[in-house]
Amino acid sequence: MDTTLSVLKDYFGFLSFRPYQREVIEKIIEKRDCLVVMATGSGKSLCYQVPPLVVKKTGIVVSPLISLMQDQVMALKQRGIKAEYLSSAQKDYTVQSKAERGQFDILFMTPEKACTIPTSFWSNLLKEGISLFAVDEAHCISEWGHDFRVEYKQLDKLRGVLLDVPYVGLTATATEKVRFDITNSLKMNNPYVVVGSFDRPNLFYGVKQFNRGQSFIDELVEEVSKEVANGCSTIIYCTTIKDVEQIYKSLTEVGINAGMYHGQMDGKSREESHRLFVRDEMQIMVATIAFGMGIDKPNIRKVIHYGCPKNLESYYQESGRCGRDGIASVCWLYYTRSDFAKGDFYAADLKSENQKRAVMESLLAAQQYCLSATCRRKFLLEHFGEKISAERCGNCDNCKVSKQQRDLSREAFLLMACIHSCNGRWGLNMPIDILRGSRAKKIMDAQYDKLPLHGLGKTYQANWWKALGHQLISLGYLKEVVRDTFRLISVSSKGEKFLASCRPDYQPPLVLPLVG
Ligand code: ADP
Ligand code: ZN
Repeated sequence: MDTTLSVLKDYFGFLSFRPYQREVIEKIIEKRDCLVVMATGSGKSLCYQVPPLVVKKTGIVVSPLISLMQDQVMALKQRGIKAEYLSSAQKDYTVQSKAERGQFDILFMTPEKACTIPTSFWSNLLKEGISLFAVDEAHCISEWGHDFRVEYKQLDKLRGVLLDVPYVGLTATATEKVRFDITNSLKMNNPYVVVGSFDRPNLFYGVKQFNRGQSFIDELVEEVSKEVANGCSTIIYCTTIKDVEQIYKSLTEVGINAGMYHGQMDGKSREESHRLFVRDEMQIMVATIAFGMGIDKPNIRKVIHYGCPKNLESYYQESGRCGRDGIASVCWLYYTRSDFAKGDFYAADLKSENQKRAVMESLLAAQQYCLSATCRRKFLLEHFGEKISAERCGNCDNCKVSKQQRDLSREAFLLMACIHSCNGRWGLNMPIDILRGSRAKKIMDAQYDKLPLHGLGKTYQANWWKALGHQLISLGYLKEVVRDTFRLISVSSKGEKFLASCRPDYQPPLVLPLVG
């Protein structure tokens, strides 16, 4: 009899493995390091839960949050699996001393604990045997991830101690940089890498611009009331605690049984909110992204983002909390333009230049997603490195609604040509000011007033040009890069082709010397 399969049936009550689970489990049993990149809800936990039960040696799982570990320990115990967790906050050493004698199947640890526990703990446990060393939410190791944690970086120290133990990194964040950082930081040896598809076909993706204020909140409340009437669970993610409180207040004022969750609430009220929501005793949760990891609730029908998220990785995880049961569900993202200007604010406390740049670039990607006029799903999946051949998914706002179209090639030409003249030295505002005929000092200093394009775009407001610029970025005619904390705009090769096709005699315009 296949022991792996019988463990799956006996302990977990599942009949078959989901894609990739079996291969990963087998590789771990063969002691191969593994990197498991799969979407939230695809069943990553099972990959580290099964091997310890098959080889009958303790599996160590590093996990970032105590609440998450508590939930997992409870669920595993209910299945008759010996599980416990260790954190630096515990004063009682009973669990630790049982653990080093190999008395648990699965032992969770915070990264701090794993790095600070005496080496004797590891040498004792190694005598009993360790089936795996798993690092859950492994993207926390990467400065390019959306949730970098310094303690995770120190896990590499253990590599020299846990010599013959397979390392397993698990994450739902899949950009190539993050993947590389994980295998590199954990010093993985020829890891077996699986990257599952990130597509969630049952989720609809949509984006809308909104104006902050009570009148929008009233609309939101009305929309949510309908959900409540239909018995559907909804999460509303806000970017600030103030927004959480305001929306929560508006919902409860009209008698909606909503809950609230954010980092400034005490642990007890947070737990209570979480519990009521997960048990369907409350249908609407208004939260910051603190409400996150470990929400195993299959029937969430809608996730609304009130404000643009910092990056697409967290957006994908947060929105991905709906429709885990496979039933059609909806993700709406509402943004305001000012959301896009928060990069400096997000980057302010960061020390390393790398981290700063990562934060700016991530926000830029989220901005491009918001402004994109093409298939949202394709955009998201391609961001995570998946190749998508179909242009339209048929289940996002851009694929469903055909937008009113207008020939803007003249305007596009003007803007691109002007950006070309700026030669990649400026952000989007400079070429727009030139087109609108500004005589500001920086324009005069750079002699941009002498460009033939100067003043040719006066008929449109600056914001109109900006919107056009954003469209051209999302269509790939322009590209924006982050240098230090500035965004610089330039014409892409696709844009160059467009320019050339507009005017056969087109030569890249004269580049004027910059003064100062
Ligand atoms: P992830 O860690 O990737 O977000 P989980 O490990 O929490 O996902 O699994 C998501 C859900 O899928 C859980 O409810 C889990 O019990 C269920 N699940 C996992 N593997 C299987 C399987 N082989 N068969 C049926 N259900 C499974
Ligand atoms: Zn689409």
